[in-house]
Amino acid sequence: MIGLPRDGRDMAEALAEARAALTTGDVPVGAVVIGPDGGIVGRGHNQREATGDPTAHAEVLALRDASERLGRWRLDDCTLVVTLEPCLMCAGATVLARIPRLVLGAWDPKAGACGSQWDVVRDRRLNHRVEVIGGVREEECGELLRAFFAEHRGVAEAEA
Ligand SMILES: [Zn+2]
Repeated sequence: MIGLPRDGRDMAEALAEARAALTTGDVPVGAVVIGPDGGIVGRGHNQREATGDPTAHAEVLALRDASERLGRWRLDDCTLVVTLEPCLMCAGATVLARIPRLVLGAWDPKAGACGSQWDVVRDRRLNHRVEVIGGVREEECGELLRAFFAEHRGVAEAEA
């Protein structure tokens, strides 16, 4: 459960991905996958609006990107870094990819599946469990989301 000094730097990369989601009006969530040599091997940001795909979450896209680059589905020597606590789908995908270590920014008390509403990544009924390091650059990650939803509500009110 110990965070590393580099987790903050890696989260800065995930935050850059999250900001990229704003260009298509997507909720700003970003993720990167760190490979065994410490370099970024996968990137993704939420593209649900951009693609019309309900599964186009940042984590799923980053895991796909990493698997493609490394040529394997088993990412048991990688770290997943994401700005928001993964949902049920993404927590499931993290387990299926055999990710050993998850670094997350803001917690998601409503839909988080890595300790908040559920704890899929540490469920003893599954054959793989993930170390979770939470709250890395939590303020920045949360503020990006709060600003997005504040603006969104403003638009909805203006259109009403
Ligand atoms: Zn998700």
